[in-house]
Amino acid sequence: MIPFLDLKKINLRHEEAILDCVHKVLNSGWYILGEEVKTFEAEFADYCGTKFALGVANGLDALELIMRSYNIGPGDEVIVPSNTYIASILSISANGATPVLVEPNLLTYNLDPDKIEESITPNTKAILVVHLYGQVCNMGPIKNIAEKYNLKIIEDCAQAHGAVYADRKVGDLGDAAAFSFYPGKNLGALGDAGAITTNDENLYKDLHALRNYGSQKKYENLFKGYNSRLDEFQAPILSMKLKYLDQDNEYRRKIATYYLNSINNEHIVLPSVEEGPLSHVWHVFVVRTSLRSHFIDYMTDNGIQTMIHYPIPPHKQKAYKEWNDLVFPISEKIHSEILSLPISPVMDMDDVKRIVEVVNEYRPN
Ligand SMILES: *Cc1c(COP(=O)(O)O)cnc(C)c1O
Repeated sequence: MIPFLDLKKINLRHEEAILDCVHKVLNSGWYILGEEVKTFEAEFADYCGTKFALGVANGLDALELIMRSYNIGPGDEVIVPSNTYIASILSISANGATPVLVEPNLLTYNLDPDKIEESITPNTKAILVVHLYGQVCNMGPIKNIAEKYNLKIIEDCAQAHGAVYADRKVGDLGDAAAFSFYPGKNLGALGDAGAITTNDENLYKDLHALRNYGSQKKYENLFKGYNSRLDEFQAPILSMKLKYLDQDNEYRRKIATYYLNSINNEHIVLPSVEEGPLSHVWHVFVVRTSLRSHFIDYMTDNGIQTMIHYPIPPHKQKAYKEWNDLVFPISEKIHSEILSLPISPVMDMDDVKRIVEVVNEYRPN
């Protein structure tokens, strides 16, 4: 079986370095918000090109804390794509604000800038852009809209570490950005972890306290804060793996390019990379077919594991019953037809070639 993603293989490449990280923290005797977290924050800010990076517990917290710091709450609306991973939307709901779902572009799967303006009301406070599947959103028009209506741009970079728009990395394309280092992401920890990047010093200062019980100085609480800290053991592992992120992304690009050039089957729609000064880091390689369940069975029978990112659109989730009767045709079409082929920095090119052969030989009957 060609696995969808071999996380063990990804991390065993760094076995010795990871064990060194564990020993270093163990021997430091300091296990919460120590030197390793500070070092990673400095390195990650440097990598993203931002003034600040702040480690937090996970990607959802990163989003939720940004919105909380910007005082986005009850009565406020935040624009978010209708086909994102549920965490983007939950971060808005968690603050008591209202997510306003906007349809994506069917070809790129990313937020369609032409559909944003019609969803803006006097209550709109921010646009939450999601660089879905690793492709950067078309930020030029989105920035113009945000400026025109005085809205914050918050980036969800959980799937796009290292992707670039007009020579700037994601994380540096809006007012603040959230990253997840969930193990399967392009930069993955060995557990939960996340970060916020920003150039906004006031936001940074607030968040610095907010993630740690609202405290700057021990036992003095400025805000009703959270406990959402990047784990001290994960920090040096992330610092070490950060050095390999660009080469890992390059390898993902090599696989994606091979798929794009070699898959040729009228039943399979390949993903599109948008025209413009933007890059794609291929967190997942998503194709579409109206014969999905039949095609998945065929792939499984041929020893290839696939996944669906994601099978149920957010507005059809039980968690959002109030939206279940709404209709988002593009999002619904995407969710009913997509599936993801294996892609990872440790895949054998022979396996990639085998996948292409199997996909090209697919016939519905
Ligand atoms: C993974 C992910 C998140 C959430 O990150 P966690 O670290 O799992 O909380 C948010 N948004 C998107 C788009 C993601 O893929």
